[in-house]
Amino acid sequence: MTNTIRICHLYGNLLNTYGDNGNLLMIQYYAREKGYQVETTMVSLEDPFNADDFDIIFFGGGQDFEQKIIAKDCQRLIPEIKRYIEQNGVLLAICGGFQLLGQYYTTADGEQIKGLGVLPHYTERQINSRFIGDIEIYDEINQQTYYGFENHNGVTYLTDALEPLGKVITGYGNNNQDKTEGMHYKNTFGSYFHGPLLVRNEWLARHLVDLAIEQKNK
Ligand code: GLN
Repeated sequence: MTNTIRICHLYGNLLNTYGDNGNLLMIQYYAREKGYQVETTMVSLEDPFNADDFDIIFFGGGQDFEQKIIAKDCQRLIPEIKRYIEQNGVLLAICGGFQLLGQYYTTADGEQIKGLGVLPHYTERQINSRFIGDIEIYDEINQQTYYGFENHNGVTYLTDALEPLGKVITGYGNNNQDKTEGMHYKNTFGSYFHGPLLVRNEWLARHLVDLAIEQKNK
């Protein structure tokens, strides 16, 4: 399987709104361009999951109803996802998936649901309001500008342990207060960007595939 990039689409049948599946298409496209075959596996409610079976995990965005269902099921994945992240596995989490990697997520109606808790960020809510609109951020580590569209009720705080994916130039970002957008820790990336993120930001798509290839061949 060394010439195959194995992609895990985490809860892909539940978190599949906002065209985020375009991120998967981009990963598949660049992996093939690099000469790899691609195998995509959906891991959803009650499915077995072994982190060693994957080179990239994609965790998409969705609505509160689905997030509540997933929050219950995903607790069983905590040790494997934690191990995967800590050993530099490549993971991309968008919006709802990004929120669920953290400590907790507060739904628009005020219910606090437990996240996987594998990273320290946490998400509060806004009352009768959403952050909606075009967004532009600058990734200082990689010196790249990213463009996207955000649509979220959640208000996320990173804590000092996490780097943002980028600094907000225009738009709201994680919380409309500290100019952070998304998150970056080892080879794990989180973002509120739809658009989808990787379709509008080709450099990042290639970067994730390169990281996955590097991890695979180390
Ligand atoms: N339901 C979450 C929120 O509104 C996530 C939305 C999304 O994934 N776009 O914050």
